[in-house]
Amino acid sequence: MHGGYVDPVAALERIAFLLERQGAVTYRVQAFRTAAAALTALPAGALRERAGNGTLGRLKGLGPKTSRVVEEALAGERPAYLARLEEEAGGPLVEGEAGRALRRALRGDCHLHSDWSDGGSPVEEMARTARDLGHAWCALTDHSPRLTVARGLTAERLRNQLAVVAEVNARLAPFRLLTGIECDVLDDGSLDQEPELLDELDVVVASVHSKLRMDAGPMTRRMLAAVRNPLVDVLGHCTGRQLTGKLRPESEFDAAEVFAACAEHRTAVEINCRPDRLDPPRRLLRQALDAGTFFAVDSDAHAPGQLDWQIYGCARAEECGVPTERIINTWTARQLTTWTRTGRPPRGAGA
Ligand SMILES: [Zn+2]
Ligand SMILES: [Zn+2]
Repeated sequence: MHGGYVDPVAALERIAFLLERQGAVTYRVQAFRTAAAALTALPAGALRERAGNGTLGRLKGLGPKTSRVVEEALAGERPAYLARLEEEAGGPLVEGEAGRALRRALRGDCHLHSDWSDGGSPVEEMARTARDLGHAWCALTDHSPRLTVARGLTAERLRNQLAVVAEVNARLAPFRLLTGIECDVLDDGSLDQEPELLDELDVVVASVHSKLRMDAGPMTRRMLAAVRNPLVDVLGHCTGRQLTGKLRPESEFDAAEVFAACAEHRTAVEINCRPDRLDPPRRLLRQALDAGTFFAVDSDAHAPGQLDWQIYGCARAEECGVPTERIINTWTARQLTTWTRTGRPPRGAGA
């Protein structure tokens, strides 16, 4: 990237992506995302004009740091901030070959969030980034109503979101953004959304987010009710553990029973890739493998750069010997949605 023209919007987006991938919190990244959006909204020619007469910094959405990136890009240089970040944070997230073959086999991602719930970016930005990472599809799975801290979507908001997904699909085809939800599993094992609406969605991830310290007996019954529910496709982050920040131990439940039910009812066990979760732990992952379940290697991304975290789950899946054909996001969108609708896996897949 020396000499020639550097696209300022691409530079700002790349910076944001790398910061997110590195695990930066949303507010640290927001300045770059906001600046990129402000530039995209400008009429043609306005950017160079402003850079030429020194009024770039007065543009709403641009600050000193982001203006500098834009000026350097317009001057045909690689912005210094970006160069430094590429150096520090642009390398592979996992050393050596670990997880790489499996990552290449993935066609999609079944679990990610937009700014409709607690994600940091618009729906289209998430979908575009998934596409640019080589995916053919991904499922948008924002939170359900009871998770108010994460601005969970009411039935009405989710219905409105379906229209947005359709628009994004019209723009990004042949890439496919599947409809979905990360639905809370309530204390009694029921689901936190209208069944008719869940039935309409391509992918339903069911996760426990509350009362994680429940006794093993009731927790097992709660999880069994969820994974046996024909509307549920994926069991999200099954232990609920948190490895960084506000630490949380694994929930207690009868894993043998829950994984047997997952295998029987064709509910995939999620391999959650977030570095703060890495859920299930290896011993449970191996137990699910022996029980004969399908798996979903999910980023659970809350920002575009976090979509790249799938490599962490790929490395663990490889390490535990999970066969590629048991991983539902190695399937095509059509194979996946056939399976979520009918329970029929593609030929050759399965235990
Ligand atoms: Zn969750
Ligand atoms: Zn999630």
